[in-house]
Amino acid sequence: MRRWTLILLLALIFSTPACTSQPAALERTSTPELTATSEPGATPAPTRQPSPEPATSAPESSAALAASPTPDEMLNARQRMVRTQIRGRGVTDERVLAAMETVPRHEFVLSETLDQAYNDHPLPIGYGQTISQPYIVALMTEMLGLDPGDKVLEIGTGSGYQAAVLAELTDQVYTIEIIPELAEGARATLDGLGYDYVVSMQGDGYWGWEEHAPFDAIIVTAAPDHIPQPLLYQLAEGGQMVIPVGPPGGYQSLWLISREGDEFHTFNWGGVRFVPLTRAEE
Ligand code: SAH
Repeated sequence: MRRWTLILLLALIFSTPACTSQPAALERTSTPELTATSEPGATPAPTRQPSPEPATSAPESSAALAASPTPDEMLNARQRMVRTQIRGRGVTDERVLAAMETVPRHEFVLSETLDQAYNDHPLPIGYGQTISQPYIVALMTEMLGLDPGDKVLEIGTGSGYQAAVLAELTDQVYTIEIIPELAEGARATLDGLGYDYVVSMQGDGYWGWEEHAPFDAIIVTAAPDHIPQPLLYQLAEGGQMVIPVGPPGGYQSLWLISREGDEFHTFNWGGVRFVPLTRAEE
């Protein structure tokens, strides 16, 4: 059996369901054959594989905090997170790295997981949903190629963390969350941190947000089993969409889709794992 096949099988056997992101993406470190590209070289591959479990003792990759961390400890953990989990895996956009260093991720997690806020994995945020692993947030943000003033739409507000990272890069952020309690919670967190210019709504993001279209960038942080047509057509000329697509509960492919006129160019970044995009009752 070829090595990458074995690694993929092991990943499938040992993976835990319902995490936002993705052991599979990181397996690519040692499995270049898994990369399906239609435009080679567009996205840097991660350079190493993280521990699948929260690290509790001291390796350089660990960002674990004490039970009641001080602000300084949180800043240190955040800086270490950026250095080891994000820059260390090949994210190079300095504006994205600065945003990840600025946004206080610990404000977006449940109090019982505060000590894990800067660890290298997704965390539960209630209602069966998760805040994505920091690396995946940074990677997807980098893939969008945002410039200041760009208009970006996020589908799947969740905790509001990804929206806050986007809001460090542009002042035109729109975000949609289907679960009312999460939509309300994220709104309160974003307001409390001064991200009141993020525009949010509760609803089914499958339909996008026609009223504010077109968007220079669209980021989907829950996985549909097909690409929602409304989102494609709400993408501005020259715009980029990052979206995981695949079966619910399994691995998906992370796609970067660029619009040129009515043509859509696609790049398959590789395997990821997200919670499913759910649909409102018709
Ligand atoms: N971006 C979030 C994490 C996303 S988890 C963060 O930074 O915390 C995926 C989120 O997508 C969940 O909150 C889930 O409720 C939401 N979701 C699922 N289907 C959706 C849909 N059709 N429209 C909008 N949000 C959806």
